[in-house]
Amino acid sequence: MVVSAAESASIISSPDEVTGLGEGLWDQFGRRITYLRLSLTEHCNFRCQYCSPAEGTPYFAREDHLRPDEIHLVLRSFQALGLQHLRFTGGEPLIHPQLLGHVGFAKKLGIGKISLSSNGYLLDRLAEPLAQAGLNSLNVSLDSLDPEKFQQITRGGVLPRVLRGIDAARAAGIPRIKINTVLLRSVNGLELASLVDYAVARGLEIRFIETMPLGSAGSGSQDQDYLSASEARAMIEREFGALLPLANSRDQGPARRYTLAGGHGSIGFITPISDNFCATCNRVRLTATGRLVFCLGQEAGMELRPLLRSGIDMAELGKAIAQGIWQEKPERHVFDRDRNRSSKIFMMRLGG
Ligand code: SAM
Ligand code: SF4
Repeated sequence: MVVSAAESASIISSPDEVTGLGEGLWDQFGRRITYLRLSLTEHCNFRCQYCSPAEGTPYFAREDHLRPDEIHLVLRSFQALGLQHLRFTGGEPLIHPQLLGHVGFAKKLGIGKISLSSNGYLLDRLAEPLAQAGLNSLNVSLDSLDPEKFQQITRGGVLPRVLRGIDAARAAGIPRIKINTVLLRSVNGLELASLVDYAVARGLEIRFIETMPLGSAGSGSQDQDYLSASEARAMIEREFGALLPLANSRDQGPARRYTLAGGHGSIGFITPISDNFCATCNRVRLTATGRLVFCLGQEAGMELRPLLRSGIDMAELGKAIAQGIWQEKPERHVFDRDRNRSSKIFMMRLGG
């Protein structure tokens, strides 16, 4: 019998019934959790203005970072609970010495989709080994094609090197490559069409993301640098004509996806501010120190590190995770309502 997410949630009436391994991970709003974003490190070689303070965030103590064996136990527990998609993120995951080993482990475990978010700076060296290790999908952040603006927004990033990294990823044959552009009126408001051209010419998907008011980022829709996805779309349509919606465009995540006339390219818009998509949330995040975070911009979450260091086994860990998600995953983010609280949350530590 096939049951929908909502039906399943109503069948499963208590945490105990969802904690048996193999039952999957569910929250109380009928959402099944099949996607884990794993931050390997909070360290980064860039300091993007919307993600990090100029001086960076204080680093976690070395001994507080999860060890490889601890990460692998978490992955095995999630896998047993129906994980379909694992994303490595950070900070910058490419600076993490065990990245390739972790990708290889996830591949051996049989996780269906393994992806990675990167600023692209070290991709020219790592694209090939990542492809060999089994990476299915890669997101590269690229906010401007103007070297000076790029340097300013990333506080030191070198654009030609990132573009070389993207070319290396294409040459290595990583199956799916997406460009992520955070919308900022003063940075890329005038170059959205160039960014679309760049991506479409190379067969890459591009997604424009509304800036979330977390950490050092602006104050959301009130900020003068805020650019909504609908305005960005209108700007792009002025250059290229009407964008055509792709059928089931949110099936593969929160982006609403379109093509140019003639079916060229894939242009997505991610709208955490102007069009909330929390109802379809299927994800949780794990920080580099082992905090499982249930929602962006909220404190809800649980510390897995003490459990891991108490010698817990895979089944018990899975139960604890299932119970935590069931009891505490919030219905939606509230960062647009509580700037005071969200200003203390940095994407760099959370993994975006
Ligand atoms: N360093 C990698 C990178 O830049 O892709 C991975 C980590 S980064 C935190 C993951 C994603 O979060 C990036 O695409 C970045 O642009 C996005 N991001 C960071 N801060 C953001 C914010 N305030 N609003 C929207 N997106 C943000
Ligand atoms: Fe580093 Fe990525 Fe944040 Fe930029 S967006 S500071 S590259 S973690």
